[in-house]
Amino acid sequence: MQHDLEVQDVTKKFDTFTAVNSVNFHVEQGSFFSILGPSGCGKTTLLRMIAGFESPTNGRICIRGKDVTNVSPNKRPVNLIFQHLALFPMMNVAENIGFGLARQGRTKDAIGRKVTEILDRVGLPGYGDKKINQLSGGQKQRVAIARCLVLDPTVLLLDEPLGALDLKLREQMKIELKKIQEKIGTTFIYITHDQSEALVMSDNIAVMNEGRFEQLGSPQELYGKPKTAFVAKFVGNNNNIGAEVIENTGKYLKIRHDSGNEFTLQIETNYKIGTSVEYLLRPESIMINPTADMADLNRISIKIGSVLFDGANSQLLGKPSNFDEEFLISLPQNRLYEHIKAGDVIEVGWDVNSGLCFKNE
Ligand code: ATP
Repeated sequence: MQHDLEVQDVTKKFDTFTAVNSVNFHVEQGSFFSILGPSGCGKTTLLRMIAGFESPTNGRICIRGKDVTNVSPNKRPVNLIFQHLALFPMMNVAENIGFGLARQGRTKDAIGRKVTEILDRVGLPGYGDKKINQLSGGQKQRVAIARCLVLDPTVLLLDEPLGALDLKLREQMKIELKKIQEKIGTTFIYITHDQSEALVMSDNIAVMNEGRFEQLGSPQELYGKPKTAFVAKFVGNNNNIGAEVIENTGKYLKIRHDSGNEFTLQIETNYKIGTSVEYLLRPESIMINPTADMADLNRISIKIGSVLFDGANSQLLGKPSNFDEEFLISLPQNRLYEHIKAGDVIEVGWDVNSGLCFKNE
């Protein structure tokens, strides 16, 4: 499979501060690749280097095998979409989309054909004559995408393009964007600090922290097999239980919480007895009222503090006695647990295979 983008050992320093630190990755043709990380981790700087608006202090950037490190932005086969779409308000939709083609000197007929075709593809057939201020936020977003895609870029770079939209529209647009990308097949590189956007849309995600890539993998890999505590915490919710290792057989780890509760984990580590660890457990891996015959479970009683009702995403929040940490427990999508309310004490359990354990640094 050909790589549309290769970033080789790229570093960017601003004076003595290193914003991007020896980043290496490649993106396969036609895939949706996200760079996910907290504010200030270097995402925008990396994207601006790919677009050509910043020069790397070190390293090489290749697009479809061609070294573009020293090529100016307008000569690179990439387009960049920002959060603020910068559509021209005085032009209609077709003129906005055709603007880049007109600058390339294409004929009116050719521009008309391409604009009609791209409007169909982004789900806005017949919208060419509309004014920009007649469009909804999501429609403007699609016009901005169409305006870039009509120029047939090898790679489309998107810098938090949904950031300015309200929550509901953002939820819709992330599905729309994924569909548009799949239909058109252009390589998308998307930066965001929103893990749910990255998980839903991407084929692969790089989690970035302090200028470095902590882990690169599919959404399933990052969620299910995070390699560091940072990735585990940044991608998805967790219950964080601080504990100390009291036994390690190589196959099983036994840990003790300050409350005196002990848990068994089927996790292979070389952690020595006495190591201070952080045990991370996903809310959906906790079972409510497990039956007595279920083997290999860690069990504990929890006093419910609040029921966080959110339709299909409802959760319980509660604490075992003598715990400072709260437990977040997903409520399965059936009506068996509707009766649970604040103040109730429930029994919960989770498989010894669940969860991840990291050394407290
Ligand atoms: P956000 O999500 O908030 O946009 P980000 O991950 O995109 O954050 P960057 O904008 O890439 O982060 O910035 C990374 C770091 O580099 C920040 O600490 C920022 O202050 C610094 N930085 C960015 N541009 C410059 C510049 N031109 N000069 C000096 N420092 C800069």
